[in-house]
Amino acid sequence: MGNRTLAILKPDCVRKNLQGKVIAKIQDAGFKIIAMKQMRLTKAQAEGFYAVHHARPFFKDLTEFMSSGPCVPIVLEKTNAVAEFRKTIGATDPKEADPGTVRREFADSKGENIVHGSDSDDNAALEIAFFFHQGELIANQ
Ligand code: ATP
Ligand code: MG
Repeated sequence: MGNRTLAILKPDCVRKNLQGKVIAKIQDAGFKIIAMKQMRLTKAQAEGFYAVHHARPFFKDLTEFMSSGPCVPIVLEKTNAVAEFRKTIGATDPKEADPGTVRREFADSKGENIVHGSDSDDNAALEIAFFFHQGELIANQ
């Protein structure tokens, strides 16, 4: 059980100017921010990040969406971070997400669902390394 996960505030979150509200909810759920930046993924980078989904019918829409504007990757720390964060954001489809979760509160659709969260400790480590150098990870005092 690892202590870190990778979140991404997706381009719909940035377009809707909801970064602050989503980050507040994440902090209220007990996560510490270890690293954070705003950037725009190229289509090729989005395809690399979501490579596990390359054969899925939604891959083209997903990678076009993820490269459609700036996003905000964030490294978060909390005990059992991966599972805890997925609880905080809720189900992939906001209609199925529990009340009070980030996606239920802010997302419009399964395709544009505000936020990404890693799905395992191994993937969290790979995804953190995709966006950040070791020296950019700053633990809280
Ligand atoms: P994420 O990986 O973004 O945190 P997730 O782990 O809840 O989301 P995945 O199954 O990994 O869901 O799918 C990755 C992303 O692909 C989803 O966040 C969603 O935006 C999109 N997606 C997944 N399934 C569908 C679908 N059936 N139709 C449209 N988009 C989908
Ligand atoms: Mg996923």
